[in-house]
Amino acid sequence: MEWKDGARCVVCLTFDYDVDTSWRNILRRHNIERDNPVVLSIGEYAPRAALPRILRLLKSHDVKAGFFVPGEVADRFTDSVKDIHIAGHEIGHHGYTHKNPARSTLKEEKEELARGSEALEKIIGYKPVGYRAPAADLSPNTYSLLVDHGLVYDSTMMNDDLPYIIDVEGKKIVELPIRWMLDDWVYFGFNMFPSLAYQSGISSQERVFEIWSAEFEAVYEEGLYFMLTMHPQIMGVPSRSKMLGRLIELMKSKEDVWFATPREIAEYWLEHRG
Ligand SMILES: [Zn+2]
Repeated sequence: MEWKDGARCVVCLTFDYDVDTSWRNILRRHNIERDNPVVLSIGEYAPRAALPRILRLLKSHDVKAGFFVPGEVADRFTDSVKDIHIAGHEIGHHGYTHKNPARSTLKEEKEELARGSEALEKIIGYKPVGYRAPAADLSPNTYSLLVDHGLVYDSTMMNDDLPYIIDVEGKKIVELPIRWMLDDWVYFGFNMFPSLAYQSGISSQERVFEIWSAEFEAVYEEGLYFMLTMHPQIMGVPSRSKMLGRLIELMKSKEDVWFATPREIAEYWLEHRG
Protein backbone atom coordinates (compact mmCIF):
# COMPACT_ATOMS: atom_id res chain seq x y z
CA MET A 1 0.00 0.00 0.00
CA GLU A 2 1.46 3.35 -0.98
CA TRP A 3 0.10 6.47 0.64
CA LYS A 4 0.38 10.10 -0.36
CA ASP A 5 3.85 11.25 -1.50
CA GLY A 6 5.21 7.75 -1.05
CA ALA A 7 4.40 7.58 2.67
CA ARG A 8 4.60 4.15 4.19
CA CYS A 9 1.64 4.52 6.50
CA VAL A 10 -0.99 7.03 7.44
CA VAL A 11 -1.87 8.27 10.92
CA CYS A 12 -5.24 9.82 11.67
CA LEU A 13 -5.95 11.41 15.04
CA THR A 14 -9.63 11.88 15.78
CA PHE A 15 -11.58 13.25 18.72
CA ASP A 16 -15.26 12.81 19.47
CA TYR A 17 -16.20 16.13 21.05
CA ASP A 18 -19.33 14.96 22.87
CA VAL A 19 -19.14 17.31 25.88
CA ASP A 20 -22.16 16.32 28.04
CA THR A 21 -24.42 14.92 25.29
CA SER A 22 -23.18 11.34 25.63
CA TRP A 23 -23.65 11.46 29.42
CA ARG A 24 -27.22 12.73 29.04
CA ASN A 25 -27.93 9.78 26.73
CA ILE A 26 -26.39 7.39 29.24
CA LEU A 27 -28.62 8.79 32.01
CA ARG A 28 -31.72 8.41 29.82
CA ARG A 29 -30.77 4.87 28.91
CA HIS A 30 -30.78 4.09 32.63
CA ASN A 31 -34.23 5.69 32.93
CA ILE A 32 -32.89 8.66 34.86
CA GLU A 33 -34.90 11.63 33.64
CA ARG A 34 -33.13 14.33 35.60
CA ASP A 35 -29.77 15.78 34.55
CA ASN A 36 -27.40 14.81 37.30
CA PRO A 37 -25.06 17.83 37.37
CA VAL A 38 -21.97 15.91 38.41
CA VAL A 39 -22.38 13.32 35.67
CA LEU A 40 -22.79 16.07 33.07
CA SER A 41 -19.81 17.93 34.52
CA ILE A 42 -17.49 15.13 33.39
CA GLY A 43 -18.35 16.13 29.82
CA GLU A 44 -18.15 19.86 30.59
CA TYR A 45 -14.52 19.32 31.45
CA ALA A 46 -13.93 19.18 27.70
CA PRO A 47 -14.68 22.80 26.72
CA ARG A 48 -13.47 24.21 30.05
CA ALA A 49 -10.04 22.62 30.28
CA ALA A 50 -9.37 19.65 28.03
CA LEU A 51 -10.01 21.03 24.56
CA PRO A 52 -7.69 24.04 24.91
CA ARG A 53 -4.92 21.69 26.06
CA ILE A 54 -5.51 19.29 23.15
CA LEU A 55 -5.51 22.17 20.66
CA ARG A 56 -2.24 23.49 22.11
CA LEU A 57 -0.71 20.03 21.86
CA LEU A 58 -1.76 19.55 18.23
CA LYS A 59 -0.48 23.00 17.34
CA SER A 60 2.87 22.40 18.99
CA HIS A 61 3.31 19.26 16.87
CA ASP A 62 1.83 20.87 13.75
CA VAL A 63 -0.71 18.09 13.32
CA LYS A 64 -4.25 18.43 11.97
CA ALA A 65 -6.90 16.15 13.43
CA GLY A 66 -10.55 15.32 12.85
CA PHE A 67 -13.16 16.29 15.43
CA PHE A 68 -16.61 14.69 15.33
CA VAL A 69 -19.04 17.13 16.93
CA PRO A 70 -22.74 16.67 17.79
CA GLY A 71 -24.78 19.57 16.41
CA GLU A 72 -26.08 20.36 19.88
CA VAL A 73 -22.50 20.91 21.06
CA ALA A 74 -21.94 23.30 18.15
CA ASP A 75 -25.07 25.22 19.18
CA ARG A 76 -24.31 25.32 22.93
CA PHE A 77 -20.50 25.49 22.99
CA THR A 78 -20.14 27.48 19.81
CA ASP A 79 -16.94 29.33 20.63
CA SER A 80 -15.06 26.13 21.40
CA VAL A 81 -16.16 24.55 18.11
CA LYS A 82 -15.07 27.72 16.30
CA ASP A 83 -11.68 27.36 18.00
CA ILE A 84 -11.35 23.84 16.53
CA HIS A 85 -12.31 25.09 13.08
CA ILE A 86 -10.06 28.16 13.19
CA ALA A 87 -7.12 25.95 14.18
CA GLY A 88 -7.57 24.15 10.85
CA HIS A 89 -8.89 20.83 12.08
CA GLU A 90 -11.64 18.99 10.28
CA ILE A 91 -15.11 19.02 11.84
CA GLY A 92 -17.25 15.98 11.15
CA HIS A 93 -20.84 15.03 11.84
CA HIS A 94 -21.67 13.22 15.07
CA GLY A 95 -25.46 13.43 15.20
CA TYR A 96 -27.36 16.26 16.85
CA THR A 97 -28.13 15.12 20.40
CA HIS A 98 -25.70 12.14 20.25
CA LYS A 99 -28.64 9.77 20.01
CA ASN A 100 -27.67 6.24 19.06
CA PRO A 101 -28.87 5.64 15.44
CA ALA A 102 -29.55 1.98 16.18
CA ARG A 103 -32.01 3.03 18.90
CA SER A 104 -33.67 5.68 16.73
CA THR A 105 -36.68 5.52 14.45
CA LEU A 106 -36.06 6.35 10.80
CA LYS A 107 -37.67 9.75 11.38
CA GLU A 108 -35.47 10.48 14.39
CA GLU A 109 -32.35 9.42 12.54
CA LYS A 110 -33.20 11.71 9.61
CA GLU A 111 -33.81 14.59 12.01
CA GLU A 112 -30.52 14.06 13.82
CA LEU A 113 -28.65 14.10 10.51
CA ALA A 114 -30.40 17.19 9.18
CA ARG A 115 -30.10 19.21 12.40
CA GLY A 116 -26.49 18.13 12.93
CA SER A 117 -25.45 19.21 9.42
CA GLU A 118 -27.24 22.52 9.81
CA ALA A 119 -25.61 23.32 13.16
CA LEU A 120 -22.09 22.53 11.90
CA GLU A 121 -22.63 24.41 8.66
CA LYS A 122 -23.26 27.58 10.68
CA ILE A 123 -19.71 27.32 12.00
CA ILE A 124 -17.69 25.82 9.17
CA GLY A 125 -19.60 27.38 6.28
CA TYR A 126 -20.39 24.11 4.47
CA LYS A 127 -22.03 20.81 5.23
CA PRO A 128 -19.71 18.31 6.92
CA VAL A 129 -18.45 15.54 4.63
CA GLY A 130 -17.66 12.92 7.27
CA TYR A 131 -19.68 11.08 9.89
CA ARG A 132 -18.99 9.03 12.96
CA ALA A 133 -22.05 7.50 14.56
CA PRO A 134 -22.83 8.52 18.15
CA ALA A 135 -22.33 5.56 20.52
CA ALA A 136 -20.45 3.74 17.72
CA ASP A 137 -23.62 2.18 16.41
CA LEU A 138 -25.32 2.21 12.99
CA SER A 139 -28.87 1.41 11.99
CA PRO A 140 -29.72 -0.53 8.81
CA ASN A 141 -30.70 2.84 7.27
CA THR A 142 -27.62 4.84 8.18
CA TYR A 143 -25.50 4.46 5.03
CA SER A 144 -28.36 5.33 2.76
CA LEU A 145 -29.20 8.40 4.87
CA LEU A 146 -25.56 9.49 4.87
CA VAL A 147 -25.47 9.37 1.08
CA ASP A 148 -28.71 11.40 0.96
CA HIS A 149 -27.06 14.03 3.15
CA GLY A 150 -24.03 14.26 0.89
CA LEU A 151 -21.59 12.64 3.29
CA VAL A 152 -18.46 11.21 1.68
CA TYR A 153 -17.25 8.93 4.46
CA ASP A 154 -18.26 7.17 7.65
CA SER A 155 -15.89 6.18 10.44
CA THR A 156 -17.70 3.74 12.72
CA MET A 157 -17.25 0.15 11.52
CA MET A 158 -14.65 -2.19 12.98
CA ASN A 159 -14.05 -4.71 10.23
CA ASP A 160 -10.82 -3.87 8.40
CA ASP A 161 -7.21 -2.68 8.62
CA LEU A 162 -7.71 -0.24 5.77
CA PRO A 163 -10.41 2.06 4.45
CA TYR A 164 -12.84 0.56 1.96
CA ILE A 165 -15.58 1.72 -0.36
CA ILE A 166 -19.22 0.79 -0.06
CA ASP A 167 -21.68 1.06 -2.89
CA VAL A 168 -24.92 2.55 -1.58
CA GLU A 169 -27.67 2.68 -4.19
CA GLY A 170 -25.18 3.49 -6.93
CA LYS A 171 -23.25 6.06 -4.88
CA LYS A 172 -19.95 5.55 -3.13
CA ILE A 173 -19.15 6.11 0.49
CA VAL A 174 -15.77 5.44 2.10
CA GLU A 175 -15.64 3.61 5.41
CA LEU A 176 -12.70 4.52 7.67
CA PRO A 177 -12.71 1.71 10.22
CA ILE A 178 -11.94 2.17 13.90
CA ARG A 179 -11.28 -0.37 16.65
CA TRP A 180 -11.83 -0.45 20.41
CA MET A 181 -8.17 -1.13 21.02
CA LEU A 182 -7.39 2.31 19.59
CA ASP A 183 -10.06 4.14 21.63
CA ASP A 184 -9.24 6.03 24.82
CA TRP A 185 -12.64 5.38 26.42
CA VAL A 186 -11.92 1.68 26.79
CA TYR A 187 -8.92 2.32 29.03
CA PHE A 188 -9.79 5.52 30.83
CA GLY A 189 -13.58 5.92 30.71
CA PHE A 190 -14.84 5.95 34.28
CA ASN A 191 -17.78 7.08 36.33
CA MET A 192 -19.29 6.05 39.66
CA PHE A 193 -22.83 6.53 38.43
CA PRO A 194 -25.15 5.41 36.84
CA SER A 195 -23.66 2.26 35.46
CA LEU A 196 -21.01 -0.24 36.36
CA ALA A 197 -20.41 -0.42 32.62
CA TYR A 198 -18.25 2.72 32.98
CA GLN A 199 -16.08 1.28 35.70
CA SER A 200 -13.59 -0.60 33.60
CA GLY A 201 -10.83 0.88 35.74
CA ILE A 202 -8.52 3.80 35.19
CA SER A 203 -5.57 2.47 33.28
CA SER A 204 -2.03 3.70 33.58
CA GLN A 205 -1.21 5.87 30.58
CA GLU A 206 2.06 3.94 30.28
CA ARG A 207 0.12 0.76 29.58
CA VAL A 208 -1.94 2.53 26.94
CA PHE A 209 1.20 4.05 25.41
CA GLU A 210 2.61 0.53 25.21
CA ILE A 211 -0.50 -0.82 23.44
CA TRP A 212 -0.86 2.11 21.05
CA SER A 213 2.82 2.45 20.19
CA ALA A 214 3.18 -1.30 19.57
CA GLU A 215 0.16 -1.15 17.27
CA PHE A 216 1.61 1.86 15.47
CA GLU A 217 4.95 0.08 14.94
CA ALA A 218 3.15 -2.96 13.48
CA VAL A 219 0.89 -0.81 11.30
CA TYR A 220 3.98 1.07 10.08
CA GLU A 221 5.74 -2.19 9.22
CA GLU A 222 2.75 -3.42 7.25
CA GLY A 223 2.15 -0.04 5.62
CA LEU A 224 -1.43 0.29 6.83
CA TYR A 225 -3.54 2.96 8.48
CA PHE A 226 -3.60 4.00 12.14
CA MET A 227 -6.90 5.53 13.21
CA LEU A 228 -6.99 6.72 16.81
CA THR A 229 -10.33 7.59 18.40
CA MET A 230 -10.16 9.88 21.42
CA HIS A 231 -12.40 12.18 23.47
CA PRO A 232 -11.12 15.53 24.78
CA GLN A 233 -12.83 14.91 28.16
CA ILE A 234 -10.81 11.68 28.52
CA MET A 235 -7.53 12.39 26.73
CA GLY A 236 -7.28 16.07 27.65
CA VAL A 237 -6.21 15.56 31.26
CA PRO A 238 -2.59 16.65 31.77
CA SER A 239 -0.81 13.29 32.02
CA ARG A 240 -2.74 11.66 29.18
CA SER A 241 -2.23 14.53 26.77
CA LYS A 242 1.46 14.35 27.59
CA MET A 243 1.36 10.68 26.68
CA LEU A 244 -0.33 11.56 23.38
CA GLY A 245 2.48 14.03 22.76
CA ARG A 246 5.03 11.24 23.22
CA LEU A 247 3.10 9.03 20.81
CA ILE A 248 3.07 11.80 18.18
CA GLU A 249 6.83 12.27 18.67
CA LEU A 250 7.39 8.55 18.12
CA MET A 251 5.33 8.65 14.93
CA LYS A 252 7.12 11.78 13.73
CA SER A 253 10.49 10.17 14.35
CA LYS A 254 9.81 8.16 11.18
CA GLU A 255 9.98 10.30 8.10
CA ASP A 256 7.53 8.44 5.91
CA VAL A 257 4.40 8.77 7.99
CA TRP A 258 1.54 10.77 6.54
CA PHE A 259 -0.52 12.61 9.19
CA ALA A 260 -3.91 13.15 7.60
CA THR A 261 -7.41 14.20 8.53
CA PRO A 262 -10.14 11.63 7.94
CA ARG A 263 -11.42 13.66 5.00
CA GLU A 264 -7.99 13.64 3.34
CA ILE A 265 -7.80 9.86 3.72
CA ALA A 266 -11.31 9.35 2.35
CA GLU A 267 -10.57 11.58 -0.66
CA TYR A 268 -7.24 9.87 -1.27
CA TRP A 269 -8.91 6.49 -1.12
CA LEU A 270 -11.68 7.49 -3.54
CA GLU A 271 -9.13 8.85 -5.97
CA HIS A 272 -6.76 5.88 -5.86
CA ARG A 273 -9.03 2.98 -5.07
CA GLY A 274 -12.39 4.25 -6.20
ZN1 LIG B 1 -19.56 10.40 20.80
